[in-house]
This record gives sequence, structure tokens and C-alpha cells, in this order.
Amino acid sequence: MGNGWIGVDLDGTLAKYDGWKGSDHIGEVIPKTLKYIQTALSEGIQIRIFTARASCPEQIPVVKRWLKSHGLGMLGVTCKKDFQMISLRDDRCVQVIPNTGITLEEKIAKLEEKNTYWSLQQFNEEGKNQVLTERIAELERCCTKADQRIADLDRLFSQSHTKVKELRKQLEQYTDRMQNDIDCVVQRREGVGF
Ligand SMILES: [Mg+2]
Repeated sequence: MGNGWIGVDLDGTLAKYDGWKGSDHIGEVIPKTLKYIQTALSEGIQIRIFTARASCPEQIPVVKRWLKSHGLGMLGVTCKKDFQMISLRDDRCVQVIPNTGITLEEKIAKLEEKNTYWSLQQFNEEGKNQVLTERIAELERCCTKADQRIADLDRLFSQSHTKVKELRKQLEQYTDRMQNDIDCVVQRREGVGF
């Protein structure tokens, strides 16, 4: 980790804070943050307590005493950021996604909005059933249309078949008449001695 350090705020981050009660008062330790610091220290990461209290030199001993009572007497106390600061844990920080100006809260809100949409509209059982019901209704409408179309085609085919039969009959009658005419002509020719 080199000379890098991680800043951890005091009031509201490492110690419970519910309003200013004087420079001598520091709230109860917050176990999760304490655990984070202990783990970081065990991994060789340098931690500094980053608190506005350090802007008043007379308050630093108060902070140091409180830290010592929680096994953190070795930690530096500062209110200054420098180039070695790796990150900062602070209840007042608003994290900005680098080079975008977009805050993490805004990003999370957008993702939650999307998730809400998907979970309600698509992925929960109710939404899924609704989508399936609509899909089935659509398919049933398509089937009804297809049935109607098949019935139309059957009717057309039947009409065409009847028409073909009529035309065939007419053709047969016409052929018979033609044959009669030919027979008559042949008989006349024979009658006049051609
Ligand atoms: Mg704070």
C-alpha cells in the first residue's frame, strides 16, 4: 500500500452521532466501522481518522483518548487531504462517478428504477402470467383469423370445383353439337355425290 492511507470519518461514521453535544462528547463506537478499520490495519493498510474536530488542536487529545479506549490509539488524526489519500469513508460524502459528474446515488436510483420496471412488468410471477395471458389471447385471435381464412379458401375451392364441372359439361355438349354438325355435313356431301 506504500505511503497511501485511507481516511475514516469520526462522527457519524466510526462513532454514533445524533447532534453536537460538546467537544468532550464522542458517541458510541459503530461496530461495523471498527471492524473495517481492524481488518484494514491487519492487512497493513494505513488508516487515519479524518475529522473536522482536528481543525481545533485542543480537540485532538479528546479524539485520541476515545480512539485509545477502542484499541485504536495508534491512529493519526487529521482534517487534511493530501495526495496519498486513497479513499475516504464519511457519512457526509457524496461519491461522484469519476469524470461524469453523476453521483453514485443517481446511478443507483436509475438502476433501481430499471429493476422495479423489470421486476414488476416482466420477471415477477404476476407480471409473467400477465404477459403469458396476453400472448395466449393474441395467439387465439390469430387462430380464429386462420380458421376463417381456411373456411374462405374451402368455399372458393368448392365454388371453383363446381365451375370446372359446369365448364366440362358445357364443353362436352359443345363437342357433341360439333360432332352432329360434322356428321350432317358429311351426310349431305354423300347425298349430293361428292
Ligand atoms: Mg461525519
